[in-house]
Amino acid sequence: MELSRILIQLVLWAAILHQLNQAIGFPLHAAALDDIPAYSDSTKSDKDWRLQVDAHVKEFEHLASILRDEVVNRLERLGKVSDSPEFLQRTFMSPAALRAGQLIRTWMADAGLFTWIDDMGNVHGRFDGMNSSAPALLIGSHMDTVIDAGRYDGALGIISAIAAVKALQRSGKLRDYPRPIEIIAFSDEEGVRFQTTFLGSGAVAGTLSPHLLQVKDKRGTTVQQALEKLSFPGTVESLNNLKYEPESVWGYVEVHIEQGPVLEAKGLPLGVVDAIAGQTRLRVSMKGSAGHAGTVPMAMRKDPMPAAAQAIVAIEEICIRLPQSDDHATASQRTPNTGGTLVCTVGEIASWPGASNVIPGEVTFSVDVRAKDDTIRELAVRNMEQMINEICGNRAIGCTIERKNEARTVDCDQQLTERLTESAIAATSELFTVTGVQTAIPELVPTISSGAGHDALAMAQLTKVGIIFVRCTGGISHSPEENVLDDDILAAGLAMHSFLEADLPKSQTA
Ligand SMILES: [Zn+2]
Repeated sequence: MELSRILIQLVLWAAILHQLNQAIGFPLHAAALDDIPAYSDSTKSDKDWRLQVDAHVKEFEHLASILRDEVVNRLERLGKVSDSPEFLQRTFMSPAALRAGQLIRTWMADAGLFTWIDDMGNVHGRFDGMNSSAPALLIGSHMDTVIDAGRYDGALGIISAIAAVKALQRSGKLRDYPRPIEIIAFSDEEGVRFQTTFLGSGAVAGTLSPHLLQVKDKRGTTVQQALEKLSFPGTVESLNNLKYEPESVWGYVEVHIEQGPVLEAKGLPLGVVDAIAGQTRLRVSMKGSAGHAGTVPMAMRKDPMPAAAQAIVAIEEICIRLPQSDDHATASQRTPNTGGTLVCTVGEIASWPGASNVIPGEVTFSVDVRAKDDTIRELAVRNMEQMINEICGNRAIGCTIERKNEARTVDCDQQLTERLTESAIAATSELFTVTGVQTAIPELVPTISSGAGHDALAMAQLTKVGIIFVRCTGGISHSPEENVLDDDILAAGLAMHSFLEADLPKSQTA
């Protein structure tokens, strides 16, 4: 409330400065406040002027109540919809994911959108605009989370898009939008349950192959069974029907937290993305012979655990020094990977049967490889496959390596990115004006490459894409420590609002 009051006062000052500027005919800045001559206006009465300032303040306050206060409140509410009482977790088709979908659906309806849930659990909210058959602008992000997640990843993109559309709807401008607007809350981007990302956006983009329906989660449930259990058809035909035709789509826009430290380091709330790094996700399974920890001599063991440990260290080594060819260059001959060009992570490991007094029979682990350069990523993955097979061969361990997910680097659309940049600059300028921040920054909205995959990565297979990044504290994400300032949430909402407004017939934007 305190901040709200300060903002209103600042807007009031900004409006006063604007009025003074018009009245005395030279540019004014906050820093020049002391130099302002006594106010006089020959054309407007003091009452008219105050009415105009009041209207301006009221309008901004109304916009901020939707784009900031309500979004903050909704993020908090959605952040409590979890499958665990201790931490935030919503995975594909989990009970919490379904509850989250319903909640989002009510918010879409509140913004004046027609809503439905598709056969992959994606929640859609659509407004037809002036021309229902024109290619639609799609805006979206994901509603699933990682384990022990923060409340902003994915959710911010959905909720701020709903807020921007709601603000247009409440001001009566939405009906004049020249094409349909469709917001989509995707059911799976993180890939936690099935280790296969983009089940939601991949279905809409038509990138999922039918065999994905048979992929199993840790309990042995397939995607198909998970869908059928909830009365979704789960058939190849239903999957194919989800695909949007490219002609029916104008483009895709996503707002997402940066999940990195660049914006915070620059002291700026928003950035735009030029490209998303490609990624490969592997699942490595190593099979040996289970046995008694006390009775099987070391020389007679086929223990997959040390093999996995050796492989994981070698994976790190491959990525610390960039692979340059399929040949086995020694570590010292390879280029040190100092710029974060290639990043590799083993984030999940499991052993079977998983007891302290049993030599494991099987160890499985994931490998996540990302790079902005597809050639480097592919080379790293091939190096890993070769190295893992060698380790398994030397230790007489059975090895399988599955490529669970593969996505090429995606370039964002240049024109769409330029438009998003303009909107983000307008939003940042407005925010800086009301919060009194110095605006003489050469690059008010920086261009950033994204190391994280987003639904835009899948949607790029269908249409042109653009992404706005929002600063998050310390660049931290995939953690309950994830945080976005309320004013940065407002900046994101203002940017989306401005982006949509720019498409309205000119008489409506005045
Ligand atoms: Zn995300």
